[in-house]
Amino acid sequence: MSMVQGATGEWEMVIGLEVHAQVVSEAKLFSGAATDFGAEPNSQVSLVDAAMPGMLPVINEVCVHQAVRTGLGLKAEINLVSVFDRKNYFYPDLPAGYQISQFTRPIVGKGEIEIDLADGSSRTIGITRLHLEQDAGKSLHDQDPKRSFIDLNRSGVALMEIVSEPDMRSAEEAAAYLRKMRAILRYLGTCDGNMDEGSMRCDVNVSMRRLGDPLGTRCEIKNVNSIRFLQQAIEYEARRQVAILEDGGTIDQETRLFDSRKGETRTMRSKEEAHDYRYFPDPDLLPLELDADWVETLKADLPELPDEKKARFVEVFGITPYDAGILVAEQDRADYFEAVAEGRDAKLAANWMISELFGRLNKASLEIADSPVSAAALGELVDMIADDTISGRIAKEVFDEMVETGQGAGAIVEAKGLKQITDTGALETVVDEIIAGNPEQAEQFREGKQSVVGWFVGQAMKATQGKANPKAVNEILRKKLG
Ligand code: ADP
Ligand code: MG
Repeated sequence: MSMVQGATGEWEMVIGLEVHAQVVSEAKLFSGAATDFGAEPNSQVSLVDAAMPGMLPVINEVCVHQAVRTGLGLKAEINLVSVFDRKNYFYPDLPAGYQISQFTRPIVGKGEIEIDLADGSSRTIGITRLHLEQDAGKSLHDQDPKRSFIDLNRSGVALMEIVSEPDMRSAEEAAAYLRKMRAILRYLGTCDGNMDEGSMRCDVNVSMRRLGDPLGTRCEIKNVNSIRFLQQAIEYEARRQVAILEDGGTIDQETRLFDSRKGETRTMRSKEEAHDYRYFPDPDLLPLELDADWVETLKADLPELPDEKKARFVEVFGITPYDAGILVAEQDRADYFEAVAEGRDAKLAANWMISELFGRLNKASLEIADSPVSAAALGELVDMIADDTISGRIAKEVFDEMVETGQGAGAIVEAKGLKQITDTGALETVVDEIIAGNPEQAEQFREGKQSVVGWFVGQAMKATQGKANPKAVNEILRKKLG
């Protein structure tokens, strides 16, 4: 928990998130139209999505399947009976004049999610509910100087709205929540989690209170589409609210927008302007009834999720929970790690991935799927370090070359003659030369000045371009000078 310091004392931040996640499905929630991202405008619109008179929605079983699996992945109650409601409002991108959603009886009830924080600790955040709903179309205002156009490709696409309890207490926790949510959805294959394509976005609710007080009035910031913006919006909003409260004012419950260019939130509509959606059960759809055995089958078929994988990595590979958390954050990272670690020094493998591989990928703005170094190639490098063929320092140079050229470690070491010198004869010659050239330091060593050992090792490294095995040099030095 992090407190916000105001002029009159400390304030506690209270945050709840509503995540909209587009369901991975080839067809829409109530029609057979396609859902591909980036298609020609209005090329993926059925008569149902365009709300032609007399068209009837038909529930897509795949979307139900995905929502239930997501609920199970969030350790949530699955409601065997749920109801679709009409949420009525008028907007050009909503041709029917209502959105089909779930209001009083959602498909998924209470669940929870474990978030991992930077200090290595974890916290549980409550999930209130998950419901299925349709996405709306999109208004295009930048295509023509005088007219606006509508693209209905998104109209009717299935979304899961996942609502959290107001359990988060800092921007960092909210970011960790969104990250973990995205990881779980991706592991399940129920949402691709691509925030920049709009397939995952969130509304963030923020209020402030004195520690121990009841919940304060919240503001809701709509449609935040990156984790960085989420944190910025929360920090800004917290400061804005504290300033008002310390000034003796009150917070108006309102809907706000985050302006990412200015880093500010501003009013979109106040509570008084809030919509009355006149929810009522959609007469075109029967209540959705699920079979308990079917739900059990889906539960049994869930893949290993991030928390379980993390626990297994700690137990089987003996790496720290912190490192394991980083490695399981993305499925392909975890797969890569397992391929490198299998049958090798797993801690060394984890270190090389986290501090060397990720650093270089970051710099080149590459995802692990596009890594120029395969898991097998990194494995070969780790082997060469573990069996003393090359030193850790040389390995970093070799790795740079691997990233740049895609060549294997063995080939690079061979071509450049980078093998570590462990041959005692060769090292003795080097050490003899250094001792002969530096009688003063040799004398200091004999007089018991231990720190001069490091200096000698450094000289030996210099003379061998880093290829001397430091342990062997140390032993030879002690033998010759001791
Ligand atoms: P609405 O649909 O009007 O947004 P909900 O009851 O669905 O209302 O709540 C939306 C979100 O607001 C939830 O994630 C919840 O945790 C959060 N929330 C509720 N009260 C507060 C509060 N006082 N401070 C911060 N977040 C809150
Ligand atoms: Mg809301």
